[in-house]
Amino acid sequence: MATAVLVLAAGRGERLGHALPKAFVPLAGRTLVERSIGALAGAGVFDVIQPVLSVAEFARFENLGLDVPGLVAPVAGGKERQDSMRAGLAALPAEIEFVAVHDAARCLVSGVDLRAVVAAARETGAALLGERVKDTLKRVSDGQVVETPDRAEFWAAQTPQVVRRDWLASAIDGATQTGRMGTDDTQLVEWLGHPVAMVESAHPNPKITRPEDLLLAEAILAEREQGAYE
Ligand code: C5P
Repeated sequence: MATAVLVLAAGRGERLGHALPKAFVPLAGRTLVERSIGALAGAGVFDVIQPVLSVAEFARFENLGLDVPGLVAPVAGGKERQDSMRAGLAALPAEIEFVAVHDAARCLVSGVDLRAVVAAARETGAALLGERVKDTLKRVSDGQVVETPDRAEFWAAQTPQVVRRDWLASAIDGATQTGRMGTDDTQLVEWLGHPVAMVESAHPNPKITRPEDLLLAEAILAEREQGAYE
């Protein structure tokens, strides 16, 4: 089952407060996009690795000189994450049956977790990585707590999110026609009524968003370099 991964890296990453776009910020000497692509290639489950970048960053990406099996030339992203996803999907070869969507900002994703989420999607049609929430959640309106839902039912969504190509294509078309904008990929598939499996990540898979996330990521890398896991 031919599988591609879209590496979404077209956002600016304002919250990181860095002069460079987030995907090109270095983490222990290598950019986030480089690390993400390396992790995806190393898992051995993706036939095509499709980066999605803003056009202004194509030259910067080229200069990284990446030589990775399955990596194809970048395509231009769009205004919103969903637009970038649509652009990446349109660029994929016809034989691709499953599409994974991965945020370049989650550059620490492990090979074990990548293989697990792809296997789950191939079985059920759609799956994503996630983790159980640690904190108690409060629903708040106008500064007042209105509800404390049962934490046991809540998970934080990560990427990759892996979906049958035909489901993802019709989900994006449907969302575009109705003007809906999802904050993640499987949300669009859920709107169509398809089942989506949650796969608990076995290893840390944080999204680099704020400056302190880079410090956390360095600590995770240091642990991994001591052979903690692949
Ligand atoms: O902003 P946020 O961190 O949620 O973005 C998640 C991912 O989506 C990032 O890797 C970012 O580069 C990507 N993105 C994109 N196109 C956009 C907005 C975000 O590829 N228009």
